[in-house]
Amino acid sequence: MNIAIIGSGLTGSLAAISLAKAGCRIDLYERLSDEELINRERTYAITHSSRKILEKLGIWSELASLMVPFQYLNVLDYELNNYFQFLINDLKPSDKKYSTVGWIAEHRIIMAFILKFISNVDNINKIPTSVIPNTKNYDLIVAADGSSSNTKKKLKTPSFNFSYDQICITVKVLLRGVKSNEAFEILNSEGPFAVLPLGGDIFQIICSQSIAKGKYNMTLSKSLLLDYLSTILPSGIEPDTIIDEPNSFPINFVFNYSFYSGKYLYLGETAHKLHPVGGQGLNLCWRDVDCLTKLISIPFFKKNYSLIPITYSLSRLVDVLSISILTDSLVRYSRSNFNIFSLPRKCIFYILRKSSICRRFILNIMTNGL
Ligand SMILES: Cc1cc2nc3c(=O)[nH]c(=O)nc-3n(C[C@H](O)[C@H](O)[C@H](O)COP(=O)(O)OP(=O)(O)OC[C@H]3O[C@@H](n4cnc5c(N)ncnc54)[C@H](O)[C@@H]3O)c2cc1C
Repeated sequence: MNIAIIGSGLTGSLAAISLAKAGCRIDLYERLSDEELINRERTYAITHSSRKILEKLGIWSELASLMVPFQYLNVLDYELNNYFQFLINDLKPSDKKYSTVGWIAEHRIIMAFILKFISNVDNINKIPTSVIPNTKNYDLIVAADGSSSNTKKKLKTPSFNFSYDQICITVKVLLRGVKSNEAFEILNSEGPFAVLPLGGDIFQIICSQSIAKGKYNMTLSKSLLLDYLSTILPSGIEPDTIIDEPNSFPINFVFNYSFYSGKYLYLGETAHKLHPVGGQGLNLCWRDVDCLTKLISIPFFKKNYSLIPITYSLSRLVDVLSISILTDSLVRYSRSNFNIFSLPRKCIFYILRKSSICRRFILNIMTNGL
């Protein structure tokens, strides 16, 4: 089967490897150089669903050695002044044996690794261009050209989207008073924020807040930004040094009504974009890749490949929808007016703190999808 993939971000690149391994001939179109693809300041939470996909492709063990595992995911609600932890024991038995709740990966490291891997796969042909390929030359076209996809615009594919009226600030910080194997999800009235371990005392803070406050914080000197961070971090955790330049980006939600149009399939952020703080974005993108690879490997679809787009679109619906709703609920929970919603918040938190069955249920959806 001849497949064109538009976009060589983490979704398109992994799709190229996975589909090439399934026997397809791949033309991989990308407008940026490898250096530009690698040089992005992003940090991802990697779940067991991604671990399983990378294991199938034979690239997990090498990649895992470049990531930072964490054993504790602390969820703090500042309004309730309460917390609970997701632990290894809350995972399914098959995931528990890895002795980690998840892994933290820096974009530069995994992108460089995956691009190097692609250069050794025979049936992937990299084409450096932004011109959308001619459909006649391919059996299927995978659009993985990101959330502002030109392919989607050209095909006029409708989507549900809105802006969170927030921006996200990411900053790498040296912290004192925190273990190197714990991550935090903090529910704060400004918006949720995450603290992710990057090894040793270094942590990535991903902090969502109102546009006005975020813009103001981005004008602060590093020492004033450190002071601000010390006011929002849990007591006992002290920010010591800012390691890199802080970054900020607007946050919006995108959900395509359909994940295909004719012989075009939408994968990754072309199809769905979530609030980054849930740590689900990249894992969901890679589950798209896994779903498409499974369909293409079924003998029936090798002969009837025109049925792949609609089957793929229907197969991805439940997982993408449920993770989108869960992530959005987390943001709304965090920003809800405590005076009005204090009772439901107390109930939800009490249940998750006390019931290991509920914690397992939520963690399993977050880590393996539906
Ligand atoms: C600023 C920013 C910060 C983020 N931070 C986080 C984070 O902290 N944690 C997290 O989990 N997720 C984060 N995300 C989301 C995460 O980056 C994505 O989920 C993930 O990278 C998968 O993206 P993708 O490959 O689907 O799309 P992208 O990474 O956007 O890749 C799309 C690729 O398509 C290429 N392209 C576009 N048009 C064309 C064309 N016409 N022809 C050829 N190539 C084309 C682009 O150059 C690009 O390389 C962030 C996203 C953004 C935009």
